[in-house]
Amino acid sequence: MTFLGTGGSVPNKFRNLPSVLVRRGPELFLFDCGEGTQRQFLQARAGINRKMRIFISHLHGDHVFGLPGMLHSLSFMGRSRELEIIGPKGIIELVASVNRVVKLYNRFPIRIREVKSGQVIRDAEYDVRVVAAQHGIPCLAYAIEEKPRAGWFDAAKARRLGVPEGPLWKDLQSGKSVQVGRRRIKSRSVLGRPRRGVKITYAVDTRPCASVIKVAKDSDLLIHDSCFSEAASAKAKDYGHSTAEEAARVAKRSRSRMLALFHISAMYEDASPLLAEARKVFRQSILPRDMETISVVA
Ligand SMILES: [Zn+2]
Ligand SMILES: [Zn+2]
Repeated sequence: MTFLGTGGSVPNKFRNLPSVLVRRGPELFLFDCGEGTQRQFLQARAGINRKMRIFISHLHGDHVFGLPGMLHSLSFMGRSRELEIIGPKGIIELVASVNRVVKLYNRFPIRIREVKSGQVIRDAEYDVRVVAAQHGIPCLAYAIEEKPRAGWFDAAKARRLGVPEGPLWKDLQSGKSVQVGRRRIKSRSVLGRPRRGVKITYAVDTRPCASVIKVAKDSDLLIHDSCFSEAASAKAKDYGHSTAEEAARVAKRSRSRMLALFHISAMYEDASPLLAEARKVFRQSILPRDMETISVVA
């Protein structure tokens, strides 16, 4: 995944507005679309015509002002495949009203879905859980959770059992039994234990809250609002944000494996004190820079 923009509210010299790109095999997810996201997206060389979903947390400008530009640019660059936008109530009206006034140059189908807390978006290989975060306006947090994958394939054992390499191996890998001569070979005799999938939770513009702790349970990566340092904790409370230390407590309580501090206020040119505060509570905290790419494995 690539952190396209890691700042919040307004950009500064170092941080663009929030957007996170996740590549999962051939598929792309984009979480939020702050102003200027299309340029960062291009730099990340993610490909323009892949299966893609954009998840919007809420309708504050810093999270959506990049959306019309993103749609416009994707059309110019030749996207033809459907794109899905998922967000809170109002997201349909947002795109429609921009389109009414500006007339988006649009060359591909857009499907927009308004979702609410408690909903689960299901796909063949993963689920995305939606919960309410705690912000001044309705705001959603998302958790992508891959379904368990088949265990490792024991090629040597398959050979020993007389299964020739080729389509039969594929069948075994996908959990089907195969027939070799008179013998029926079950997939479980050549597959290891099922492997846990990856879980990533995205919770920005939120106070620390129980719904996020619950949905983030056992995340491999929690991306959490860390707008301020402890010294500005009153501000965090007033504006519906979290301090780095509060984010760290959410990571700890949800038993997440890693925490990315995100939505850093523009007032911090050097946000390393925030990282130090978070690490005192939760050692596996990171402070991604814009365009930083990391791999998340289960
Ligand atoms: Zn924001
Ligand atoms: Zn906000």
